[in-house]
Amino acid sequence: MAGSEAAWQAAERGMEVNLYEMRPYRETGAHQSQDLAELVCSNSLGSSMPDRASGILMAELRAMGSLLLRCAQQFAVPAGSALAVDRREFARAVTGHLEGHPRITIVRDEVKHLPEGLCILASGPLTSPALSASLSNLTGEDHLYFFDALSPIVEASSINYEIVFRASRYARGEIEEGDYINCPFTQEEYSQFVDALLSAERIPLRSFELAIKEGVRTGLSHFFEGCLPVEVIAERGRKSLAYGPMRPVGLINPRNEKRAYAIVQLRQDDLAGDLYNLVGFQTNLTYTAQRRVFRKIPGLEEARFMRYGQMHRNTFVNSPKVLTSSLQHRTHKKLFFAGQITGVEGYLGNIATGLLAGVNAVRFSRGQDLITLPKTTMLGALCHYITHASPDHFQPMKANLGIMPALVDGQKRNRRERAKAHASRARGDFAAHWKAVGERLRIANYERSDAVV
Ligand SMILES: Cc1cc2nc3c(=O)[nH]c(=O)nc-3n(C[C@H](O)[C@H](O)[C@H](O)COP(=O)(O)OP(=O)(O)OC[C@H]3O[C@@H](n4cnc5c(N)ncnc54)[C@H](O)[C@@H]3O)c2cc1C
Repeated sequence: MAGSEAAWQAAERGMEVNLYEMRPYRETGAHQSQDLAELVCSNSLGSSMPDRASGILMAELRAMGSLLLRCAQQFAVPAGSALAVDRREFARAVTGHLEGHPRITIVRDEVKHLPEGLCILASGPLTSPALSASLSNLTGEDHLYFFDALSPIVEASSINYEIVFRASRYARGEIEEGDYINCPFTQEEYSQFVDALLSAERIPLRSFELAIKEGVRTGLSHFFEGCLPVEVIAERGRKSLAYGPMRPVGLINPRNEKRAYAIVQLRQDDLAGDLYNLVGFQTNLTYTAQRRVFRKIPGLEEARFMRYGQMHRNTFVNSPKVLTSSLQHRTHKKLFFAGQITGVEGYLGNIATGLLAGVNAVRFSRGQDLITLPKTTMLGALCHYITHASPDHFQPMKANLGIMPALVDGQKRNRRERAKAHASRARGDFAAHWKAVGERLRIANYERSDAVV
C-alpha cells in the first residue's frame, strides 16, 4: 500500500524509481496474490464522512493527488458511508498504473539488506526476517518490534468512579490528582478474577508464535517476554499478576487509606481524556471473553470497550526514537519510512504516509526543505503522534480525532460539532501549508469545500 503510493508520487515528480516486491518468490503468509497494493483483510478503507477521522484523511489524500485513493474510488463497492473496494480490481488497477509508468521499474526480489542510497522502506507489518534483521542492526534491537500487543481501551464515561481512584505510583502526598485511574482488588476479588481469566476462551496464538520463532532465529526473542498476554502470565502462578501488571505497590486507596491486594491501572489514551487503556493488559482472549472477564475488574462492571486487546504479528520501528515527523530516519538521512512499519495503523494511514514519504524523498534529493504537516491536519497529527509518543509505551495508532490538538476557541460543542470543527480546521490548515511549501492542491478551494470523497 504505502510503497505503491510512494513510488507513484516520486515517479510523477520526475524520479527514476525501483520498486522492490518480494512476492511471489517469497510469501508473507497473509497476501494471496502477486498484485501490488493488495488489501490483506477487510476491503474497507473506512468511513468517508467528512467529519470522521478517516474521512478527513481521505480528503487530504485526495487533495494531494493520491493514486491509490483514485483507484479505490474507481472500484468502490456499495458500503454505506464507508469507502470499500473490489479488492482484486483495486490491486490490479494500482499494479497496472505502476507497471505502465515510464519511470518505475518493478523488481520482484527480496531485499535482504538496507541499501546505501536514497530509499523508502515500506515493507509492512510482515517484513521478511532477513530485512528485519538488517533493520534492527541499523535501529538497534531495542527499537524494532515484531508484534502488536494491544491492551483493551474503555470509554472514560463508562468507569465507576465510586470504586476507582486516581493516583500515580509512588506519587508523594502533596500531589492530589494522579495520572492513572486505579481499580483496586480485594484478595477474594483477585482470586475470582484469576479463575475467570484462566478459564476464558482464547484465540489461537498462531501468528504470535510464528513471530516468537522468528525472534529466536534472529536472536531477538527476549523482547517477547515483556509483552506476554495477561492470561499467560496468570498461568505461571496464581500470584504472578499481583507481582506483575497488577502489582499494588506505591498506590494507597484514599477511601480506606490502605494498599489493595492488586490493582489494574488505566492510562489516558487520547488527548481529550475520553478513553483509557488497561495498562499491561495485552491479551489473546476472544472479544466476548474479554467483555465478560474484564468487567469483573472493580470499577469496570459496566465498561464500554472502544477497542479489545489483541496480539498479532506486526513489524514496526520505535518511531519516536527513530524517525522525524517528515518520515526521515533521524541519522541516516537517505532513509525514509512509510506504512505500517512506522507504527501508523490502517490502510488509509499507510497510503498517506507513503505519499508523504514519496514527496519528501524527492524534496530531499533536490535539496528542498522536507514537509512536516501541521498537527491540526489528520496526516500531520498521525506523523506527529508516531514521532512524539512516549518511546517506552509506543504502540501503533490509526487516524482518530483524539490525536489532534484540542480546539481552543472556547466554544461549547457536542461530539458531532467538535468533529466538524476539527475537520474544518484541518482543511484550512492543510490547504495553507500544502500551498506554502510549493505543492499543488488537487481540489480547488479545498479549504472551503466539504470535500466528501
Ligand atoms: C493479517 C493482517 C490483517 C490486516 N487487516 C487490516 C484491515 O482489515 N484494515 C486495515 O486498515 N488494516 C489492516 N491491517 C494493517 C495494515 O493496514 C495492512 O497490513 C497494510 O497492508 C499495511 O500496508 P503497508 O504498505 O505498510 O504494507 P504492505 O501492504 O504489507 O506492503 C508491504 C510489501 O512489502 C513486501 N515485502 C516485505 N518484506 C520485503 C522484502 N524484504 N523485500 C521485498 N519486499 C518485501 C510485502 O510482500 C508487501 O507486499 C492488517 C495487517 C495484517 C498483518
